[in-house]
Amino acid sequence: MIKDHFNKELRELISAEEWLIVREEYMPEENLAYESLFGLANGRMGNRAAFEEGGNKKTLPANYIHGVFDKSEAFMRELANTPNWLELKMYYLREPFGIEDNQELNDFISVLDMKKGILFRSYTVITESGRKTKIEKMKFLSRANSYLGAVRTYITPLNYGGLFEFENRIDGTVTNFADFPRFRVKHLDTLEINDLEAEGAFLKSETRDFGMEIGTAAVVDVKNLAGEDILKSKQFRAFGEIACEFFDLELQKKETVVIDKLAAVCTERDQEDVYQACLKNIKEFKQQGLDSELAEHIKEYQKMWSKADLILEGDQKMQQAIRYNIFQLMSTPNPDDNQTNVGAKLLHGEEYGGHAFWDTELFVLPFFNWTFPEIAKNLVEYRYNLLDKAKENARENGYRGAKYPWESADTGDEECPAWTIEPDGTCYRCYVADYEHHVTAAVTLGMANYVKVTGDQRFMKEKGIHILLETAKFWVSRFSYNQEKKRYEILKVTGPDEWHEPVDNNAYTNHLAKWNIDFALEKLKEYRKAEPALYQKLCQQYGIDQKLIKCWQQLSEKIYTVADQGLIEQFEGYFELECETINEWDQNKMPLMPESLKGKDKNEICILKQADVVMLMFLMDDKFDLETQQTNFDYYEKRTLHRSSLSPSIHCMMGLRVGDDQRAYDYLERSAYVDLDNNQGNTREGIHAASAGGSWQSVVLGYCGMKIDPDGVLSFEPKLLAKWSRVKYSISWQGEILDIEVFEDDLKVSRRSSTDGQKIRYRVNGRERIIN
Ligand code: BGC
Repeated sequence: MIKDHFNKELRELISAEEWLIVREEYMPEENLAYESLFGLANGRMGNRAAFEEGGNKKTLPANYIHGVFDKSEAFMRELANTPNWLELKMYYLREPFGIEDNQELNDFISVLDMKKGILFRSYTVITESGRKTKIEKMKFLSRANSYLGAVRTYITPLNYGGLFEFENRIDGTVTNFADFPRFRVKHLDTLEINDLEAEGAFLKSETRDFGMEIGTAAVVDVKNLAGEDILKSKQFRAFGEIACEFFDLELQKKETVVIDKLAAVCTERDQEDVYQACLKNIKEFKQQGLDSELAEHIKEYQKMWSKADLILEGDQKMQQAIRYNIFQLMSTPNPDDNQTNVGAKLLHGEEYGGHAFWDTELFVLPFFNWTFPEIAKNLVEYRYNLLDKAKENARENGYRGAKYPWESADTGDEECPAWTIEPDGTCYRCYVADYEHHVTAAVTLGMANYVKVTGDQRFMKEKGIHILLETAKFWVSRFSYNQEKKRYEILKVTGPDEWHEPVDNNAYTNHLAKWNIDFALEKLKEYRKAEPALYQKLCQQYGIDQKLIKCWQQLSEKIYTVADQGLIEQFEGYFELECETINEWDQNKMPLMPESLKGKDKNEICILKQADVVMLMFLMDDKFDLETQQTNFDYYEKRTLHRSSLSPSIHCMMGLRVGDDQRAYDYLERSAYVDLDNNQGNTREGIHAASAGGSWQSVVLGYCGMKIDPDGVLSFEPKLLAKWSRVKYSISWQGEILDIEVFEDDLKVSRRSSTDGQKIRYRVNGRERIIN
């Protein structure tokens, strides 16, 4: 039993096993992946699961805070690693003990409790001198007060006793890419270190580019099991950029000490004086104690799970994986902040610098639209807030309207570097930002779907319409007219498949751009009738008149969309590339590059990095008949290597749509387990946000077949797997929470509130039902 590894107090806290992800063996080479996997986030900050003891070499401790970006010598403005407030070093007669490279660890177990957002750990350490100590820990980042985090440590010397010494440290020397000398950057300068008015330790730092201040405070509360204060002495010290509180105490053999390390992290983003903010938070935290904050934290997780849990009966491993993905997704964004977004690796690692990609709108946002609409709103408002920057970005690149950056941080500038370095030192020119323009259509589509699901027409009228018109203007300026062929084209562009760049007339991009322009025309038409005052205002602001509308319409009609039915060529010339279909798979059933194409220039061969035409089919279901979708799925699936984690969930949903259930489930596994099984091999760099969102979509929109019919009615066409006896989840629909239960041959929808709201219509396999 998992709980048996822990003392009574922790046993009582740990949730039922179905809620736990367990690491049962300590292998140092797995540390970095587990640091991401067991990373915690509370909407404001994210903390990798590094060991507080320090000492082992395979570790990348990190604390990232939403919106705290810095460039300095890095290639791009990236989420800065902020001071490490975790450290608690333990010594007996000057000998450090804990997870040290030269010490024996027994009975190691680490447990992520997804229900409560707590990380537990327990082990016994035997030092070189034979001293045996039992260590038990738990850590949480408070969801109730997201400035706070805490670690509780139980220490029991099993075969010795005497004087123990400790250091409660805040480490300001941290860097990004600490284990990668070529990329290592220090983003913060330490400004001040002090004892926080004799409370503990405080460190103030600032980002080097913009000078944004960050305050980090940490104090300890030390008691024995009877709750008695057993501290002998305590003293503040500063070691360069490390703020440290030294303390010591006597322990008898088998006596246990409980050390609560309480931390507060405040930034100038939302606090005028970070020192005062830390002091206030820490004083209150100390006064009410860890247990009371923990209770509030657990309540917040309870509330979140009541909106977002998904029960999947009959498939234990998948159940755990879907919960894990939901846990990490819902823990990350800040419900009170519309200036930050969700990075491609959540708040768990440094790859992609914490930047938002199209991953947000097409993979992550649907989850929030249906479960936490207030968070979804922040995510779409983030893009609205950066609209002016997107306009500047369009101008700088010779276009009109608004062009969203491929990678977006806090300023809205393009953060995708033009040059980058391979691990071996080779510099290469990175063209993604120059050519991969489809993110602009994704932003519009994401926003349109947000409005469709939440019904937030106010957002559309006040903000969304501006995103829509500016992005349409961009696409109009992005097309060029081919006199000879009498059509509008997008030349030199990269579609979702980044292995072919740049190309002419990528079908995905042309279709989405056309959709973006058509949607703008449709909205203008609607507002002209329904919102004449708004329409007039927009006409004035954007110089819209009938001539311009006609011009956009004519352009749209002549957009070369490659083909509407049949086999669609991914881009002009794709069918002429050297080709062989995939004929080998690895042990995870993932495709391998055909032998004859190995080592060849990826631009010259037909193998794709990720879903491209298939992604188009997935998004534009109504534009392509089923036969076309089948033809294209079959054709491209045989040529796709899924080297991006965005690809499998789309293939799962498309597999289901075209009736390829076996392949659909294989892809669901690949997507849902991406980090739990580390199947892309890069979990150490952070958690795959898009894959997490795509996995949720696969179950809810794919297997449960949930969608909104063209007339706005909620509808379901479930295709449950035979082994899934029941799927239960909740959605937020038109201001109400609905509980959905899907069985093999039935589906039930019930409203949670008992108030007699309006009747809700929904359809199951086309047949209408009503909830009163
Ligand atoms: C993929 C992109 C994705 C990015 C961030 C890349 O490898 O090709 O589609 O947006 O990763 O997840």
